[in-house]
Amino acid sequence: MQRVVSKPVHLSACSLLALLFPSLGFSAVPQSTIETWVAESAPKVQKIIEGGKSENHSYLKLQELCDDIGNRLSGSPQLEKAIEWAAETMRRDGQENVVVDPVVVRKWVRGEESLGVVSPREMRLSMLGLGGSVGTPPEGITADVIVVSSREELDALPDEQVKGRIVVFNVVMPPWSPTEGSGYGKVVAYRSNGARWASERGGVAVLVRSATARSLDSPHTGAMRYSGGSAVKDIPAASISIEGATLLARWQARGITPRVCLKMSATDGGEATSGNVLAEYVGREFPDEYVVIGGHIDSWDVGSGAHDDGAGCVAAMEALAILRRLGMQPRRTIRVVLFTNEENGVAGARAYRVRHGDEKHFSAIESDSGGFAPQGISVEMTDPAKQDAAAAQMQQMLTLLKPLGATEVKTGSSGTDIQPLLDLGTACMGLSVDGRYYFDTHHTHADTVDKVNPDQLTDCSITMAVTAWLLAEMPFQIGDTAKADQSPDQIPQNH
Ligand SMILES: [Zn+2]
Repeated sequence: MQRVVSKPVHLSACSLLALLFPSLGFSAVPQSTIETWVAESAPKVQKIIEGGKSENHSYLKLQELCDDIGNRLSGSPQLEKAIEWAAETMRRDGQENVVVDPVVVRKWVRGEESLGVVSPREMRLSMLGLGGSVGTPPEGITADVIVVSSREELDALPDEQVKGRIVVFNVVMPPWSPTEGSGYGKVVAYRSNGARWASERGGVAVLVRSATARSLDSPHTGAMRYSGGSAVKDIPAASISIEGATLLARWQARGITPRVCLKMSATDGGEATSGNVLAEYVGREFPDEYVVIGGHIDSWDVGSGAHDDGAGCVAAMEALAILRRLGMQPRRTIRVVLFTNEENGVAGARAYRVRHGDEKHFSAIESDSGGFAPQGISVEMTDPAKQDAAAAQMQQMLTLLKPLGATEVKTGSSGTDIQPLLDLGTACMGLSVDGRYYFDTHHTHADTVDKVNPDQLTDCSITMAVTAWLLAEMPFQIGDTAKADQSPDQIPQNH
């Protein structure tokens, strides 16, 4: 490894003595390894930022993926087309070892669906069936609704007020705030488990207020699951917009019991073959050590999966393309992985772990929070001490991303697709972005390319490129405090 000291080094009296009289046992005052190395890396990072700004195809790639192919639910022909496109595009970008690892996924088919109010007046309500839901009989389910604002409220109701009814969970998602972030985590359990909770009380179907804090009558789909046992009946589950949920609640509050008809022809389509797309920039020194960057190539079957997660995929693809164009071959191999089936099964992540789990995963970065202005990185490791050390090291590295404003380091969750790598000791990371608008369009018809700002997407790809390159170049194991505090000369080159 080259060690070009680009900054003048101010020697303390002690280190001067150490240099002049090493045999006297003076040890050099350590400028920490990480600081020295980060300072040395600055010009190269600058080169990546400039290169990524002057030529960047992430927005073009996003259009090809989302406008030309469209949404990509597991088992759909569009998903397979997208996988082919991604592999072909990365081959064209000059990447090495481009392969598609086959993955068996579960196929869910939405079919035709509708929701109509029967009384107090006839009208249609915007709805989307939840992924994995069973369908209704062809004539639909017509029943009175009971609106509740929490599970506790449902459980407190007498049986006769729930039995035979369609349960509406009108649970309010708190708006995004700078300190708390989005309120998604507080309400998503209703989408996931609402059908089971309603069925346990005798409900015949469930309608869940969409997991969003802002609505233009847009229903948000997403995954749901049943109990898996035969004790609780699997009932149909759909999401409704904030407008629909609050209308039903207002009627109920005035003593009017709304009656609705829910029709869904959703079916389980059995198994289908899909795949994870891999491509590499093979490392010059440690080709068998991997820094994974990626997102998930599948999406829901509405909108075009632009923020979720077309943006993450193209940011990773373009990150590798930027490094390739600049000829900046990393020490370790940087591998793009576009996982399949994140939305409704996570089979791609599991298959990757099975197929590649015995390879040395130095680090993995997933982008799955939308293609908004990047803010930094969230670090997740199983060992809390290593996680803290890795976060501190990332904090140093990200000072180089000041021009993009992506200098923030958090600890916590990284990404659904890379989490199976955690128990390998991998430093898993999520790309943090400005999340204030993400859940406005998440899993809706409105998650389309026009919602993605090209400059912000460009910055995401550059942030990925810089972070991946730095990790691939690191002179010691990330999260390793002992080595990080040593002076550079003490670190064996083959760690
Ligand atoms: Zn996603």
